[in-house]
Amino acid sequence: MGQNFDTKSVQLSLNNTNKIDSKVTPIYQTSAFKFKDLEDLESFYTGNKEYLYTRVGNPNSDELGSAVAQLEEAPQGVATSSGLSAILVGILAVVKAGDHILASTDLYGGTYQLLANELSDFGIEVSFVDFEQEIERYIKDNTKLIYSESVTNPLLRVENIKEVVRIANKHGIKSMIDNTFATPYLCQPYTLGVDLVVHSATKYLGGHSDVTAGVLVGNEELITKAKTKVVNIGTNLSPFDAWLACRGIKTLSVRMERHTKNAQILADALRKNDAVAKVYYPKDFSSKGNGAIVSIDITGSCNVEKFFQSLSWVKIVPTLAGVETSVSYPLTTSHRALPKETQQELGITEGLVRISVGIEDADDIVAAFENAIQHAKL
Ligand SMILES: *Cc1c(COP(=O)(O)O)cnc(C)c1O
Repeated sequence: MGQNFDTKSVQLSLNNTNKIDSKVTPIYQTSAFKFKDLEDLESFYTGNKEYLYTRVGNPNSDELGSAVAQLEEAPQGVATSSGLSAILVGILAVVKAGDHILASTDLYGGTYQLLANELSDFGIEVSFVDFEQEIERYIKDNTKLIYSESVTNPLLRVENIKEVVRIANKHGIKSMIDNTFATPYLCQPYTLGVDLVVHSATKYLGGHSDVTAGVLVGNEELITKAKTKVVNIGTNLSPFDAWLACRGIKTLSVRMERHTKNAQILADALRKNDAVAKVYYPKDFSSKGNGAIVSIDITGSCNVEKFFQSLSWVKIVPTLAGVETSVSYPLTTSHRALPKETQQELGITEGLVRISVGIEDADDIVAAFENAIQHAKL
C-alpha cells in the first residue's frame, strides 16, 4: 500500500527483521514493543513473548541484570535506575511496614538517608549499629533484614560477611550487602550465603563515570519480588544506560587489576609519608588485592584547602570508581547529612580525603599526591 509523505515520514523506521547479526547487543531504545495481533499480544501474558513495555522489561536492562548475577554467582539479577533504587527495591522485597532493619552505622551517605529519612515514613524501623561489636543483641522480634557493605565508605572497614550470614541464618532473617566498593572481582557475598547483593553500577561496573545505574542480585524468589517493585514503583533503568553499564563490565577485570595494583602502591607510599596522619586501606582483603579506594587523614599535618588546590591533574569529584584518579571530601559531600556526632564517631574528620585510584601510571599518581602534600604541609 502506498503511503503519503506525511505518513511515510512518520513511519520511516526500518522494520526490525532481526536479520542483522550485530556483534554487540543493539540498544533497544524503545519505550514499548509491538505486536502483530491480539493473539501475539496475549503471548506476552502467557510467557511466550518476553517484552511488552520498557518499564516492565527491556533486553538491555535484562542483559545487565543477568551479567552481574553471573559475576556474583547468583541465580538472578535486576537492573535499576540507580544504586539507591536497587537498594530500595531489594529492601522492599524483604520488609514492609512494621518490620525492622538492623544496619551498620558506616553506610554510604545516600543509603543512610534512604534508611534513616525515607523508610521511616513508610513505617519501616531501622537501627544503626556499629558492626565491629556483637550485633546479635540488637535483633528484635520484628527484625527482617541485616544490611551492611562488604567494604565501607569512606574508611574502608571490611565487613565480616560470614558472621553477618551466621547471625541472619540463626534468626531466620535475610541479609543484604552492598558490594559496590569491592565488586565481584574481589568479593562475592552471594557465595558466602548473603541473600541479596546490591551494586551502584555507577561505580566500578560502569567504570567510566558516564552512567547512573544499579543492580540487585539474589535467588529467584527475592529477585522476582524485587522486579515487581521495579515495575510498580518505576525504578527501571534506561536502555542506553544499561547498554553503557554492560559495555563497562567487559573491562571490569582489567580495570580492577590495575586500580587495585595502583591503590596498593599509593597506600604504601602514603604510609611512609610523615605528613599523612592516617592511611585507610584494607589488608589481606582478597587474593586479588585490597581494592581501589585509599582514604587518608591529613588533619593537623596539612592545610586541607591547600591540598585540594595542589592536586594538578587529579580531579575533585563527589564520586568514585572511574578510570581517572579522583578525590572527594566526605565531610561536605557524601557524609554531609550525618549528624555531627555520628561524623565524629565514624572518623569523618576535617582532614579526611577519599582517593579513588585510577588506572594511570602508578608513579604519576604517587607523585601527584606527594606533591600536593608537600605544598600543603603545615
Ligand atoms: C554510589 C553508591 C551508592 C548509590 O549509588 P547511586 O548509583 O549513586 O544511586 C550506594 N552504595 C555505595 C557504596 C556507593 O558508592
